Amino acid sequence: MSGIPVGISTCLLGREVRHDGGHKHSRYCTQVLSKHLEFRSICPELEAGLGVPRPAIHLREYSDGLRLIETRGTADHTDAMQGFIDQIMPTLADLRGYILMAKSPSCGMERIKVHNENGQVARRDGRGMFAGALLKAYPLMPVEEEGRLNDDMLRENFIERIFAYDDWMQNVAGDNLSARALIEFHTRHKFQLLAHSESIYRQLGPMLGDLKSEPLENISNRYINQFMEAMSQKVSRGSHMNAMQHLMGYLRDSMGDEDRKVLREQIEAYRRGEVPLVVPMTLLRMAQRREPVNYLRAQQYLTPYPDELGLRNNV
Ligand code: SF4
Repeated sequence: MSGIPVGISTCLLGREVRHDGGHKHSRYCTQVLSKHLEFRSICPELEAGLGVPRPAIHLREYSDGLRLIETRGTADHTDAMQGFIDQIMPTLADLRGYILMAKSPSCGMERIKVHNENGQVARRDGRGMFAGALLKAYPLMPVEEEGRLNDDMLRENFIERIFAYDDWMQNVAGDNLSARALIEFHTRHKFQLLAHSESIYRQLGPMLGDLKSEPLENISNRYINQFMEAMSQKVSRGSHMNAMQHLMGYLRDSMGDEDRKVLREQIEAYRRGEVPLVVPMTLLRMAQRREPVNYLRAQQYLTPYPDELGLRNNV
């Protein structure tokens, strides 16, 4: 187990912490992801002192802002939640990602109902109070709602971002920052960047061309902001095809004519949606393993996360 620290809404682990004493167990989280991630669970409502069971709460909008109010009545839990958020948020800096429970006025990331002062639904574009504070405090951290992980593409993208962000936090951020660390990180993730966003890929290379013109910290801040923005972009089949063809160029000498032909056919079959990404990627990895090219050895694009997760079987 790699033990990458990732936050999670406690009810997703099957613990009975919901207002009605129930849970929202996610087997994907507890049986698959838990083998590779070290979950740190937080139930903001419970830990803010609301207890289990507790009255259901929702977001209400007043002239001075949003408040967390009991759905029946006017009991206000905003200050208790804010106190908990102020205390817990600085302790989450070591997390590499966060999985939130949807539809909650505390944990929901998007489309949360906001009520008016009379308790009637006024809009549906709110964000849970804890989730909003998390996204504001850690804008680079990959955050997803558990329900969205049922989508193969979103799931693959989220896990890929967690592993890339972990690499940054372990090897470049904070005291590890150096020109070398930054350039090596960029080198490791070049093909991933190319697949996710060719335009950001083309901006980030030149950004690292002159690391003496201003403090390295400024450059690295700009870099990681753009890097994570690129990584959150969906990769089309055409973009993967483009990245794989670039990779293939480096493997020219380690592949015979027939191998090259098969690989080209499988990249084309992937583009047409006939085979998943794992098929051409495995051929590329075989070629690299047969006659390793140093430059490719470190490329995270070939193995962005543990194979056992099987994520490339479905995209
Ligand atoms: S959604 Fe959040 S606040 Fe609600 S039970 Fe789950 S962890 Fe607790």
